[in-house]
Amino acid sequence: MRFIIKAGMLIPNNTSSDSLPITKIPTIPQPPLNPDFAYNPNIQQLLTGKQLLFDDIPFTFDEIQTHYQNGYVTYRKGIVYKGKQPICARCGNKDPQQFASFPCSRCGETCLYCRHCLMMGRISACTPLLGWNGPVPDTVYPTKILEWQGTLSEGQLVASNHVVEAIRRDQEHLVWAVCGAGKTEVLFAGIEAALTSKKRICIATPRTDVVLELTPRLKAAFPTITVASLYGGSEDRHLYAPLTIATTHQLLRFYQAFDTIILDEVDAFPYTVEESLQYAAIHARKPTAAMIYLTATPNEKWQRECRSGKRAYTTIPARFHRHPLPVPEFVWCGNWQKKLQKNKLPQNAIQWIHNRIKANKQTLIFFPHIPLMEKALPILQQFDPTIQAVHAEDPERKNKVQKMRTKEIPLLLTTTILERGVTFPNIDVAVIGAEDPIFTESALVQIAGRAGRSKDHPDGVVTFFHYGKTDEMIKARRQIVSMNSEGVKRGLLDK
Ligand SMILES: [Zn+2]
Ligand SMILES: [Zn+2]
Repeated sequence: MRFIIKAGMLIPNNTSSDSLPITKIPTIPQPPLNPDFAYNPNIQQLLTGKQLLFDDIPFTFDEIQTHYQNGYVTYRKGIVYKGKQPICARCGNKDPQQFASFPCSRCGETCLYCRHCLMMGRISACTPLLGWNGPVPDTVYPTKILEWQGTLSEGQLVASNHVVEAIRRDQEHLVWAVCGAGKTEVLFAGIEAALTSKKRICIATPRTDVVLELTPRLKAAFPTITVASLYGGSEDRHLYAPLTIATTHQLLRFYQAFDTIILDEVDAFPYTVEESLQYAAIHARKPTAAMIYLTATPNEKWQRECRSGKRAYTTIPARFHRHPLPVPEFVWCGNWQKKLQKNKLPQNAIQWIHNRIKANKQTLIFFPHIPLMEKALPILQQFDPTIQAVHAEDPERKNKVQKMRTKEIPLLLTTTILERGVTFPNIDVAVIGAEDPIFTESALVQIAGRAGRSKDHPDGVVTFFHYGKTDEMIKARRQIVSMNSEGVKRGLLDK
């Protein structure tokens, strides 16, 4: 598609010699809002706070163009240039390797497009990003918004108050809560405060599993509020809602939409991925907005900023059941990889596992890599044939996790995919090969955090079998020990 500028607005024109794809037009004129224009409320609902492509929406080009000419719809360039460097306006990609060109039938040129966010629909040099410039949809709020009846632990309450405060003042705040602290409940008062002052709020998390798990809990806590639940393929894609819960990828479709964004598990991705998701969060929020970050394991930079007073944060150092976090023990197990090549496991690891099987204690065992894990599986199945192994691409993954829940599997071998998100009430945890670089401080803290989750079984043994202690292991243990001692100091633990 090509445009010319006429009477202070973009007019589609594919034939004129001075027509251009939108990226090449120096500034995009925005026609003034025509108060007499009867806008389509469905377009209003769909485009408020969004940045969508024509391909994303069920309206004709003519109808959108009419709304633009009357000032209600905005066009932004899909790809912008900083000097000669292209930048994707949707995902922030500026890596030249992540752009490609194709002969484009819409603009008749060789058209540059972003490969980085291609899975959300192709954004190219001639595609406008559509937004809304008119009044926002009316939302009617009930007098009582929050119906949740539970109570918060002392540690949760302190964090909850700080979250409310940050949301009221449009500030940034980090909640550093240990695994099992109960972080969802910590958000309820803050969400209520946002909604009460008619602020639009979004909870973003990297994983679809978490969106699916949180949606019913939020709908139950806020039963009269429309909740949009967004993930790849979700049906709420076009729903306008005061409360949105989305995967971080879905944030790429929003633009200056939210007065508050709660970003969950900021640490869950490697830095490069995290960077583009941070970009998405920054663009999805309004210029003045609160950002709440949630994590059990902030990265080193953030930990430093917390300690030096550069970052506002609150720790919840204790679990809601008031028992300390299990502290991992380190056990040297020699060259376990070499042993595995000979179809053997280190004797002390075998003994540890054998004790659990005898005692009927359910156990998760983490391995750094799939082939090694698969070599260990038949060795352990000699003790008990119902022992299983699971990894990210395993088609039986959901089924095996479910069987672990119902205790049909006594012992589950796993890669880091089960390091977070899953809760089994009464398990011991081991890592074989804790020295592997895949086991970062954050991964090890999360792994240790799988044990002792329920109030009926608040203890659990966590053992890191290793062939040489690493800094990451030491930092992970130090973080856990320091959370426990903070829990004692603040009177949040019973023993
Ligand atoms: Zn094109
Ligand atoms: Zn992109």
